[in-house]
Amino acid sequence: MRCRGCEYELWNMKPGTCPECGRKWQFDEFRFHPLAAQFLCPHCDHAYGGTDNQGLPTPRAFICSGCSEPIDLDQMRALPAPNTDGSTAMDDEFPWRDIERLGKWRAFWRTVGLSMSNPTRVGRMLPERSSFRSALIFSLLCGTITIVSSASPIVFMIGFSNQQFSSGLEYVLQFLAIFFAVVLGFAILAQILLLLWGSCAHGILRISGGVHRPLRDSLSSTLFCTGPFLISAIPCCGFYIFLVSVIWMGVAMIHALASLQRVSRLRASIAVLAPLLSLFAAIALTVAVMIYMSSNTTWSANGVSIGFSSSVQIAPSSNAVAPPTPPDESDAQALPPLGPESPEEK
Ligand SMILES: [Zn+2]
Ligand SMILES: [Zn+2]
Repeated sequence: MRCRGCEYELWNMKPGTCPECGRKWQFDEFRFHPLAAQFLCPHCDHAYGGTDNQGLPTPRAFICSGCSEPIDLDQMRALPAPNTDGSTAMDDEFPWRDIERLGKWRAFWRTVGLSMSNPTRVGRMLPERSSFRSALIFSLLCGTITIVSSASPIVFMIGFSNQQFSSGLEYVLQFLAIFFAVVLGFAILAQILLLLWGSCAHGILRISGGVHRPLRDSLSSTLFCTGPFLISAIPCCGFYIFLVSVIWMGVAMIHALASLQRVSRLRASIAVLAPLLSLFAAIALTVAVMIYMSSNTTWSANGVSIGFSSSVQIAPSSNAVAPPTPPDESDAQALPPLGPESPEEK
């Protein structure tokens, strides 16, 4: 059990302020595995197991069965369960921070799972003074895996269809180098866009009523919400579910920022969706303007061509108009007999 502000070990201490960094803490902000910690009566040290789903004793205030004094969870000290050292007691260590214990691969997939299924905990568990660089590495990994996995079957099909592919190792290595350079380029571009998105969301939260954590933490939590992009990693068809990933990530960001900055879901939704909708609106506007401009230039080009043709080629146009007239005249010639006949009959 470590201080969220400075990682100071908080076992065997009453809730209050951290002696290292002065941050206020209480048991409610932690999640223990059930029965992984025991809580001691402040008067007689009688131990109570943490039995509820948060690993805390329930109820929170009761009469001690050892000394009959009324006690409250906020007065108790916590110790690891007997015969344990507490290293596995916590259920809410941020997995990406817990690489040493979990190993890189498990830490990565656990963080992905967290960002897909429980982004609220991403925001709540994100350590203070979190390392922005580790968030960037996580997001870059998600982006690279997604792009490589979704694009490689198509790219290699194109590569293999090239006859040079089977002829020379040099060509294959060159091909792979270009492929991975392009992938890395796209992944880095994606990070830049995500950081812009996170910055806009943070800015909107800040001007709409203030925030609790600095910009760096908002950016870290944005980057830790990129787990849903891995559903686009499905080879070949990943591209089509890209939009689903973006929406999923947006929802994850709303939950993560709401819990990180302790704001309402509505405010977080506005902060996250406004930049995205503005971007879509800007793209739509640009496309509309481009279509309008291109249609204008073709009209003006038509106008010019008509002007020239009408001024130069008057003869063909008069010829073109002339042919219909003879049938009209013949009709007129054919009609008059009918005209006179009818009055004659009458
Ligand atoms: Zn501390
Ligand atoms: Zn007691």
